[in-house]
Amino acid sequence: MSNPTTSAADFLPAHRSLSALREAASACRGCALYQDATQTVFGEGRRDARAVFIGEQPGDEEDLAGRPFVGPAGRLLDRAMAEAGIDRKAAYITNAVKHFKWEPRGKRRIHKKPQDREIKACKPWLVNEIELIRPQVVVCLGVTAATAAFGKAVRLKDYRGHFVQTPLSDATFVTTHPSALLRLPDEELRQLEYRRFVEDLRLVQSRLA
Ligand code: SF4
Repeated sequence: MSNPTTSAADFLPAHRSLSALREAASACRGCALYQDATQTVFGEGRRDARAVFIGEQPGDEEDLAGRPFVGPAGRLLDRAMAEAGIDRKAAYITNAVKHFKWEPRGKRRIHKKPQDREIKACKPWLVNEIELIRPQVVVCLGVTAATAAFGKAVRLKDYRGHFVQTPLSDATFVTTHPSALLRLPDEELRQLEYRRFVEDLRLVQSRLA
């Protein structure tokens, strides 16, 4: 197995299409995260999507399935999008980091937050996805996606619920990641935060409409 480099840029294909990018990303060694993951989990959705949703990284189920947002957080996102009137099938869904970063806990693989250098290393895939799709709106789900979009570390509370211009899109919207809702220990708080998440997605839907 070859050693990792420092950027996905070393693996970009000469011909840029979503399928060519997906194929090239499957062999990416732009950082060390591929070493412990099952496979690259590239974005999926429509080439003409008006909204691109960016998460953090694939989780355990996504890593095994090779598809983004198919685990518990994905099911919560589906529900919230449907409540907000956004059709997931009409959107494009991807992650800032395309390999699952994890650490063992007993027999389980526990999510580990990607570092800034890994977000940066993986960014060429994201930039090319956005450049090809040219969506009306880019929705950052959580702080890792926002860090990738802004190109610097940001705090969720400074930008949540607003459309702002970033190097990735003139209309970048920041909200929470559905997995953050799942981690809340209290059911009442979880319901409250879920409603807030749906309200954020309604703002996205209004912009698209
Ligand atoms: S996380 Fe991104 S940069 Fe790192 S190996 Fe995977 S696809 Fe390449």
